[in-house]
Formats: sequence, structure tokens, C-alpha cells
Amino acid sequence: MAQGTFGTAINCIDGRAQEPVAAWVRDNAQVDYVDTVTIPGADYALTHMTPDRMAQMRDMVAVSVNAHGSQIIAIAGHFGCAAFDADRAQHEAAIRSAVSVVKGWGLPVRVVGLWVNEQWQIEPVE
Ligand SMILES: [Zn+2]
Repeated sequence: MAQGTFGTAINCIDGRAQEPVAAWVRDNAQVDYVDTVTIPGADYALTHMTPDRMAQMRDMVAVSVNAHGSQIIAIAGHFGCAAFDADRAQHEAAIRSAVSVVKGWGLPVRVVGLWVNEQWQIEPVE
């Protein structure tokens, strides 16, 4: 087991969204490090990918949970997303659906959804 405590983020590839999400997970889950799996438009992608791709995503996240003992998975959607050009309500709906998908993976951890707003601040969705 790696030293330190870990959380996990499933986030967009967008560089602007990385640090706010990591900081929120560190502060709210009281962990030292945040492992991050990225995919463009993560909130949308998690509900629109093939079963094979979904299995790969789950495998990547499972490394964080199983090898690092992560206790939380945060799924983020963000303002100004190039991969999912949608309004806030559509992002929030996608984040809720993505949380439901990840809860279905059966990993023994808390799953939360986060919205990164136009000020690059975090607003929990679920
Ligand atoms: Zn994005």
C-alpha cells in the first residue's frame, strides 16, 4: 500500500478543472493525494461509452481504490467544457447519471458529483 491517503477523481482532460477538483477532494475527504482518471467531458462520457470502454474506466479507477485504498470517487463536470457543450442544468443531470453509473461499479467507496462553475469553484451536485 502506498504511503499517505488517497481519493479519486474522474475528471475532464481540461487543465482548468484539475486543481479545483483535486483541492476539493483533499479538503473534503481529508486525503493527502488525489488520483485522477481523465477523459474529455467525463460527466457525459460516463453515460455514453461502450461497455468495453466502460470496463477500462472501471479498471483504472479500481487501481486507485484497491492499490491506494481510496475512500471516495468524485465525478466532475465543468463550465466551458469543449467536449460537452451544454448548460449547467444539462451538466448537472449528466453528473447525477454518471454518479449512478459509478455507484453501479460496486466499489466500496463513497461516490460524489461535483460541478466546477464559471469561477472554477466547486459546487457539490450529489
Ligand atoms: Zn471539459
